[in-house]
Amino acid sequence: GQLEEARRALDAPLFADLAGDAQVSFEFFPPKTEKMEETLWDSIQALAPLCPRFVSVTYGAGGSTRERTHATVARIQRETLLSAAAHLTCVEATKDEILAVADEYWAAGVRHIVALRGDPPTAGAKFVARPDGYAGAADLVAGLRARHPFEISVAAYPECHPEAADAAADIDNLKRKLDAGATRAITQFFFSPETFFRFRDAAAKAGVDREIVPGILPVSNVAQTRRMAGMCGTEIPDWMGRLFEGLDDHPGARALVAATIAAEMCRKLYAGGVRHFHFYTLNRAELSFAICHLLGLRAKAVAGEKAA
Ligand code: FAD
Repeated sequence: GQLEEARRALDAPLFADLAGDAQVSFEFFPPKTEKMEETLWDSIQALAPLCPRFVSVTYGAGGSTRERTHATVARIQRETLLSAAAHLTCVEATKDEILAVADEYWAAGVRHIVALRGDPPTAGAKFVARPDGYAGAADLVAGLRARHPFEISVAAYPECHPEAADAAADIDNLKRKLDAGATRAITQFFFSPETFFRFRDAAAKAGVDREIVPGILPVSNVAQTRRMAGMCGTEIPDWMGRLFEGLDDHPGARALVAATIAAEMCRKLYAGGVRHFHFYTLNRAELSFAICHLLGLRAKAVAGEKAA
C-alpha cells in the first residue's frame, strides 16, 4: 500500500513533482540570554514568510522555563501574525498550578497548547505523578479541554516511548490523548521514513483517525543529536554518523549535508502522503528554511509583524 506507493515515487525526479501543497510548523525553545533571544527572533522573522500553520515554544524540564516560555509565546502572539502554541507539561506541578498557566495563555490570546507529560528534571529519574497533579498527558488534555476550548497537540513516538510496555500500549495511550480532545499528534524525531509509515499504519489500524505530523530534526551535529536521541529512544543510523565523519572543521559542508539528509527524508514522507511537517529548528532558521524551500514552500510577502 503506502510503502509501495512511496517506493514508486522515489523513482520520480528529485523534488520536481512536489505540488507546493506542503504545510509546516516550527518549534523553538525559550532563550536563556539576550544573545539567544536575538538569534531566536532573527529565526522567527526569517521563517515567518513561509506562513507556518503554527509555531510552538517548548517548556523546560519541571517547568524550569515557565516564565521564559510564556514571555516568548506571548511576544510571538503580540508582535507577529503567527499563531503561537505553548508547550505545557505535568511535571512537578499541581493541577491548579498548571491550569493557572493555561489561564494566562488564554488571557494572552494563545489558543493552542502542546500538552505533554514531561520528564523529571533529573536525567534518568522516573516520572511520578503527584496526588494533586495530572497522571499523564491524556489526563492533562482532558483538564485543559474542560478549562478552555484550546486546540491541543500531543506527542507520538514512531519508535515507541521508552517507558511504554510495548508499541501497541503506546498507541493505545496516543488514542486516549486524542479521545480526550487533542487535534493532532506530533512525533518525536526519527531518521527512517519507513519507521514513520509503519507507525502511522499501526495507529490507523488501532483507530487513530487524526493527523500524525512527523517531527523533523535537521541534524548538523551528530554528537548533540546522539545525546538527545539517547534520552528519547530514537535510533541514530550508522550511515548518518558516517556521513558526518571528517566534517568537524567544515561547518558549511556540514550544513549542506544536514539539509540534504533531512530534505531527502521529507521528500520520501511527502511521497507517502505527508503534507504537514513539524521542524525542530533548535532556534536556527537556515536549515529548516532550505528544506522547506525544497519541499516547494516559498516565502510570501505578508507582513511579518503586526502594526504597532
Ligand atoms: P504520555 O503520553 O503521558 O506517556 C508517557 C508514558 O506513559 C508512555 O510510555 C505511555 O505509553 C505511558 N502511559 C501513559 N498512560 C498510560 C497508561 N494508562 N497505562 C500504561 N502506560 C501509560 N518535554 C518537555 O519537558 N517539554 C517540552 O516542551 C516537550 N515537548 C515535546 C514535543 C514533542 C512533539 C514530543 C514528541 C515530545 C516533547 N517532550 C517535551 C518530551 C515528553 O515530555 C517526553 O517524551 C515524556 O517522557 C512523555 O511525554 P508524553 O506527553 O508523550 O507522555
